[in-house]
Amino acid sequence: MTIDATTLKSIFSDIATAIAADRDRLCALDGVIGDADHGIAMELGFNAARDAVSALGAEADPTTIFNTAAKAFLNAVGASSGPLYATAFMRAGASAKGKSVLSDAEFVEAFRAMAQGIRDRGKAEPGEKTMIDAWVPAADAAASASAQGANAVAAVEAAASAAAEGAEATKAMVAAKGRSARLGDRSIGHVDPGAASAVTVITAIARSLTAAQT
Ligand code: ADP
Ligand code: MG
Repeated sequence: MTIDATTLKSIFSDIATAIAADRDRLCALDGVIGDADHGIAMELGFNAARDAVSALGAEADPTTIFNTAAKAFLNAVGASSGPLYATAFMRAGASAKGKSVLSDAEFVEAFRAMAQGIRDRGKAEPGEKTMIDAWVPAADAAASASAQGANAVAAVEAAASAAAEGAEATKAMVAAKGRSARLGDRSIGHVDPGAASAVTVITAIARSLTAAQT
């Protein structure tokens, strides 16, 4: 498929809708091992990103769309998820540089760049009970599916299942980064809210791409 400005804008809009519907669950998860604001932070961020990109013209290139989303997300969110997702979008923008639309493989490359951006910005390693534990397996799954010839929909669907498994696995982990790290062993047994929201984001991207394809 060809992923153009219209498709990218609808992806941001579909993520915002999915996150808004999930807001209370995400706040509840953050209430257990954090400060109960994660659903609100994500909703504010994705609503701002959706509004900012929807205001761009149809001629906006992918880099402009991602960079606009990054700036809006950062400005809207005071929590630590703000700079993490803003960096993710900036990196997606950099990976799309000079392209007027994205091919399936280029979209998957932008997706992979998002995960790497979160990793670089937050400096969390896999196993430290953060959103990285969903984003890294998701990016790996998408990259390997794409390398084997999968289209963007199939690659991001593979990413969504890997993210869900990764998020589930955070239950057994001890938080070592972010606000929940202060709980130490008491963080065991609870899903990391940032990993949970990553599943929602990635699943929404897969659904949005599927809808755009038809
Ligand atoms: P805050 O902790 O500032 O209230 P949020 O509630 O929005 O921010 O987000 C919390 C989530 O951010 C955590 O569940 C975790 O997944 C993620 N997180 C925190 N610190 C890091 C980090 N250094 N690297 C990656 N993810 C992180
Ligand atoms: Mg929080």
